[in-house]
Amino acid sequence: MTGPTLMEGGPLAAAMRDSVRQDVETLADTGVTPTLGTVLMSADPASQSFMDRKHEACAALGIETRRVDVDPDAPASTLYESVERLAADEDVTTVFVQAPLPDHVDTRAVRERVPPGKDVDCFAPANLGRLVAGTPRVTPATASAVLHLLDAYDVDTDGRDVVVVGRTTTICKPLANLLLSPAPNPDATVTVCHSRTTDLAAHTRRADVLVTAAGTPHLVDGSMVSPGVSVVDISVNRVPADTDTGYEVVGDVDFRSVRADAAAITPVPGGVGPLTLSCLLRSVVDVTARQAGAGASD
Ligand code: NAP
Repeated sequence: MTGPTLMEGGPLAAAMRDSVRQDVETLADTGVTPTLGTVLMSADPASQSFMDRKHEACAALGIETRRVDVDPDAPASTLYESVERLAADEDVTTVFVQAPLPDHVDTRAVRERVPPGKDVDCFAPANLGRLVAGTPRVTPATASAVLHLLDAYDVDTDGRDVVVVGRTTTICKPLANLLLSPAPNPDATVTVCHSRTTDLAAHTRRADVLVTAAGTPHLVDGSMVSPGVSVVDISVNRVPADTDTGYEVVGDVDFRSVRADAAAITPVPGGVGPLTLSCLLRSVVDVTARQAGAGASD
């Protein structure tokens, strides 16, 4: 018996990085150096590790970086000032703020401080608005990675029921809007579920395509999906395990029971994650190139 298509992000991520590397070289020939300024305000080992990987990936491709790590217990104003400094630095072409932020920080105030023209993750409210209006200037890396995976593995969304589990502004709302958009592939019929959704399973069972970003291990098992479903599991959850590290990484979906019925499914790790990083690098170069073309950033 053949199993479902395994939607691996690694090969797609590698191809995207090759094209990013070429574009970095082309920009270098014109005297332009893409430079990513990042801000991290978290003691979470996973967030710190994501940030380390971003900087390593940039270094490998010739993208310059500035890294600002803010003490998670510092006043919110320290974070706001850090973002403002990167925003004002003419050598920094792009700005990225790692979410989630501590509870005492007003995330909306941080979003307002990211200049739309330097934004690489659709963090700035103006860019979110443009995305909803159907004229995105930049798309969030995770949502881009999901769409790229669906496209690359020929998962049709046209007119079909796509259920997104999670309603975050960082991942799920932009993704839901992109899935609604008319072209190229999406045109989906989108349902967005969250922690207050009554009878999550009734929704997930209706899904032709199920996308999860709940950060909740084992949330979806085989009894909650229908045969032929395509599953994209965005979540990266560390759960205690008898391994060298003391944990293993799992998604929201119980891979073993769901794969039995699925037509296609992402592995965790190895699905959305690697591609998200490449999509971010792609945006760093695209945003920088646009600035160079325009001669200024807004
Ligand atoms: P988050 O801020 O905690 O948001 C989780 C969302 O899921 C919320 O909208 C929440 O609903 C919903 N939710 C939680 N439990 C639920 C349940 N039982 N039923 C239905 N909905 C539920 O999490 P996040 O920061 O977006 O991260 C989510 C996951 O994605 C994490 O595992 C993170 O590590 C991973 N992640 C992966 C990538 C990647 O590229 N692969 C990138 C970023 C994040 P409410 O709004 O009602 O609370």
